[in-house]
Amino acid sequence: MNPEEFRRRGHEIVDYIAGYREHISELPVWSNLVPGEMRAALPAEPPTEAEPFEALMDDIERIIAPGLSHMQHPRFFGYFPANAHLASVLGDMLSSGLGQLGLNWAASPALTELEELTTDWMRQMLGLSAAWRGVIQDTASTSTLIALLCARERASGHSQNRGGLQAELHPLVVYASGQSHSSVEKAVLLAGFGHENLHIVALDDAHAMRADRLAEAIAADIAVGRHPCAVVATVGSTATTAIDPISAIAEVCRTHDIWLHVDTALAGSAMILPECRWMWAGVEDADSIVLNPHKWLGVVFDCSLFYVRDPQHLTRVMSTNPSYLQTSADGQVTNYRDWGLPLGRRFRALKLWFLIRLEGVAGLQARLRRDIANAQWLATQVDTTPRWVRLTPVPLQTVCVRHEPPGLSGEELDRHTLGWVSRINNSGAAFLTPSILDGRWMVRVSIGAIPTEREDVAALWTLMQEEAGAGHG
Ligand SMILES: *Cc1c(COP(=O)(O)O)cnc(C)c1O
Repeated sequence: MNPEEFRRRGHEIVDYIAGYREHISELPVWSNLVPGEMRAALPAEPPTEAEPFEALMDDIERIIAPGLSHMQHPRFFGYFPANAHLASVLGDMLSSGLGQLGLNWAASPALTELEELTTDWMRQMLGLSAAWRGVIQDTASTSTLIALLCARERASGHSQNRGGLQAELHPLVVYASGQSHSSVEKAVLLAGFGHENLHIVALDDAHAMRADRLAEAIAADIAVGRHPCAVVATVGSTATTAIDPISAIAEVCRTHDIWLHVDTALAGSAMILPECRWMWAGVEDADSIVLNPHKWLGVVFDCSLFYVRDPQHLTRVMSTNPSYLQTSADGQVTNYRDWGLPLGRRFRALKLWFLIRLEGVAGLQARLRRDIANAQWLATQVDTTPRWVRLTPVPLQTVCVRHEPPGLSGEELDRHTLGWVSRINNSGAAFLTPSILDGRWMVRVSIGAIPTEREDVAALWTLMQEEAGAGHG
């Protein structure tokens, strides 16, 4: 493909994407393909000869499109928002087209310096002090793994330069709550702590970590010769957006020189709203933070921001410095390969920069405030409607509900809950994710897709009442 052909086909792809977004609300929200169906419709072997562009686009339309689920749909209320704002899409396209590879600063000075700039813009937008330095990782899972590697090396006095964890006399322990994301457990395992050394701290009534129980767990571990290493606290848990008390947790961590990592993958975006910052009060005393602008804020996946207070420690843990990557600029510049796992890096900052510049901070704030107001509206409907129960506080954009007809409990209630939510999901009219809370199924209504307006939330609420009432009036 030469540039001239690219120009023509590129315009067609842009038209295709624009048309997709214009008409997305007419599509069923969730794909109902059966496993293997899409693959069976395509040739198992690659073409020997070049095919015409038209044949490819025809397959996109006929075979690929029916296998898509639509996170950009106004009635997508599942998981957490996975927004791909069109302003950010343009930045991502540009990044692909420019084909940069940030091996070190010299390999693409603009790539590195725009990442420094945009992560610092975000720091300011979030209200964090100038003590923090940021880097863009692919996902929160990676960011949390890196945080625990940093914690491990700080607690062990850089054991990696000796016998590693295998030579440690006292097992290093990580603490998190039972509501922390599965990526925390995964990071604990991958960082070599071992499952026995992930200690789950008790929750309060709002499903947040109890700082007093954390202090007790730490004291008990010290008493038997274990070495408390890291706490992962969550602001905005995945099931219910519960908020661990960062201030109180940070105080416990400070007493014992424990690394505090704050996982605020979803809720971090809301910290661009000054009225939300109470949710992470005390965050300045943490050692690392992760937030995902690729969720609610609208940066195209993947864009996870990882902030640390001590970048020197991070780079000491992460860097190896082979001769073929050394350059004369090394002393004066940031080499992001030493801030994470991969050597090569994409020009990810462009998609963040495009979003911030083309929407403005005020525009982003207005959209998030709209979503929070919509969640409050739904919470009020649930609170004032008989037989509907709101299970948790609604600080952000997720409302956790159950419809509880008289006489139903236990597994019968679970069947009722899973019944009405699957009727909604199978209808294609909206998409919700059920989740288990305190041993019982409930339904999360996660608001915040970019095109979701009040009327979409109102339509969902009508649908919920219809489907839940269908069997049990
Ligand atoms: C979504 C989420 C994650 C995982 O995010 P990835 O970027 O997909 O790894 C981690 N923690 C919390 C609290 C989340 O909501």
